[in-house]
Amino acid sequence: MQNPLKKRIGILGGGQLGRMLMMESTRYNVHFNVLDKDDSCPCKPMADVFLQGGLDDDKKIFELAAISDLLTFEIEHVNTDALLALEEKGVEIIPSPKILQIVQDKGLQKQFYKKNNIPSSDFFLVETANEWLDAINKLGTFKFVAKTRKDGYDGKGVAILQAEEILNDISKIPFSQPCMLEAFVECEKELSVIVARNRMGNTVSYPSVEMEFDPDANLVTYLTCPAKITAEQELKAEEIAMNVVKAFNGVGIFAVEMFLTKEGQILVNEVAPRTHNSGHHTIEACYSSQFEQLTRILLDLPLGSTRLIKPAVMINLLGADGFSGSYRLKGLEEISAIEGVYVHLYGKSESKPMRKMGHITILGETIAEAHKKAELVNSLICFVKD
Ligand code: ADP
Repeated sequence: MQNPLKKRIGILGGGQLGRMLMMESTRYNVHFNVLDKDDSCPCKPMADVFLQGGLDDDKKIFELAAISDLLTFEIEHVNTDALLALEEKGVEIIPSPKILQIVQDKGLQKQFYKKNNIPSSDFFLVETANEWLDAINKLGTFKFVAKTRKDGYDGKGVAILQAEEILNDISKIPFSQPCMLEAFVECEKELSVIVARNRMGNTVSYPSVEMEFDPDANLVTYLTCPAKITAEQELKAEEIAMNVVKAFNGVGIFAVEMFLTKEGQILVNEVAPRTHNSGHHTIEACYSSQFEQLTRILLDLPLGSTRLIKPAVMINLLGADGFSGSYRLKGLEEISAIEGVYVHLYGKSESKPMRKMGHITILGETIAEAHKKAELVNSLICFVKD
């Protein structure tokens, strides 16, 4: 049998998720090759081989495959046709690009949930103005959510709309490309469960996290684990998340984002077939982090424990409004003195407004204590021009 640690892993995408995968896996002596269009991307300094090229460039993807034993990706916006062709030829890609193909299209994703009895809000796929009006009438809710089927991310390509307004004036339809319209969910909390599944079909879930969003950027800014929900809701959330991944027959790490409605129902919003922002706390807070877990899956080692060691709060460090360029983290000295505060900077050379520059995980003996420290940390830090 080949020594699993000798496997060369090729990553499509050189951002922070790839970088944390490599950081968590260097202790296994793993060899990583990375493809990214940006010559100064976060992964470059740590990669064994760095290939510069776009994630839509089939030639570059084939080049990466030629020097790797298996491939993974850290971002969904990649050329799935090239990956499907490679998979067809027997190249191992984790997770399968067949899943990526479904997830890349919010319409196909919703149809998949419906077909597999995964609870999710009602929806219609639309293109023309008439289809919009028909769908809005059929949904029958005051508010609804329009999502472009493809190429949306971090809240871009998502609009929360008033049914009346569009019914009265079709010029207010915000998107011209094919869309998925869904019922607006009155939600109590937004939850995320990270699921790990290996080639044998063994499946484990991490404790739910509760997400809070920045209303302007629609990025997760505050994350708490465990989520403040009942034990019954926790069981349900983890069960649904694992069912989603099993329905996909997925191998790898998956983040299942869900809504807990005001009536206590859990509905799946969307799935990311990769490590996720809502799992960053697992580096310090869990026995095996989402990144280490992915390495175990890629190398065919047994799954690690997902158990939470301590309650955690995670804060995203976003580039400050009003400036772009070289930066420093103001408040770093003060927060470094606080027990259980872990700063992660992603090695991006320039700060830009709302860009994800890093994150901080804060551990506490209780959620309340972690929260209190997180508030203090939040009040002390910001990016400033260097
Ligand atoms: P993206 O893939 O760009 O992150 P999402 O589908 O996750 O887009 O939507 C972004 C945010 O919009 C969600 O996190 C949630 O806050 C809100 N949202 C999305 N769908 C609904 C819905 N059906 N009802 C209520 N809010 C929603």
